[in-house]
Amino acid sequence: MKRIFFYFVAIATLPACGPRELEPDAPVECDQCDGWNETHEPFRIHGNTWYVGTDGLSSILIQSDDGLILIDGGLPQSAALIDANIRSLGFDPLTIEAILVSHPHFDHAGGVAALQRLTGANVFTSRAGAPVLEGGRLAENDPQYVADSDHGSFPAVSNATVVGDGELVAVGNVSVRAVYTPGHTAGSVTWTWESCALNTCYDVVYADSMSPVSAQGFSFATTGMADQITESAGIIGDLDCDILLSPHPFFFGMHDKLERRDEGNPFVSSFACTFYAESSLDWLEQRLKAEGGQPPPVTLLE
Ligand SMILES: [Zn+2]
Repeated sequence: MKRIFFYFVAIATLPACGPRELEPDAPVECDQCDGWNETHEPFRIHGNTWYVGTDGLSSILIQSDDGLILIDGGLPQSAALIDANIRSLGFDPLTIEAILVSHPHFDHAGGVAALQRLTGANVFTSRAGAPVLEGGRLAENDPQYVADSDHGSFPAVSNATVVGDGELVAVGNVSVRAVYTPGHTAGSVTWTWESCALNTCYDVVYADSMSPVSAQGFSFATTGMADQITESAGIIGDLDCDILLSPHPFFFGMHDKLERRDEGNPFVSSFACTFYAESSLDWLEQRLKAEGGQPPPVTLLE
């Protein structure tokens, strides 16, 4: 039995300072960044759970009875778009009490520093993720790490709070559970919570990226990261899961599902997490075949 710690966010002790307007960090450039950072209209997924990200990078807002929770901050240049999306839904970003991070890469954690400065929120991550967020540089064991390079760096978060595997982050009446799912990075976290509306409650899973992408020369087979992905896929597949979300909208078919909104709620699917886990193992199998003793090809960051 795992010990469960509750990180009750002490609202009264949070700094009341911080800018009233978002002060963005310098944008980063990458081949896919402009496409990822196109705007996307925010929308309600179910109950307390809202999509406030960009077209290609997810950010999720969870509403409690005493403050908001935000998951992921996109690129540095996504922060202003996320801020605007939250405001357009009628929420006040300054009431965000906790920012949760899936994994410390520039396309999901890049906007977190600016959003933290704006909101004064605590930033929560895994034990392996915390030093990477606070350093703003890839860990040396990251598949995408390039030695003697600032490749993949992003604005550092000033203070990251470690959440253990299975522990909860609680804000008001909402508790979000951290499930460690290393593989894409050593610090990867899947987050899960309950979302209710009209007496219909669903288990929502924000499953972290499971794609085995790397800088040139990295081996998933020999570093043990392949074993970690395999184990994490099993963990995700076994979760109570009615709604699958993840850091890139295409991982959970967001755009296709939005086209089918008149057919009930297309985000509700009892097999989505199982399918995602199986897809992850397929991606890994392809990757291991490609490694096959040869230097793997350079792959795009995700
Ligand atoms: Zn990534």
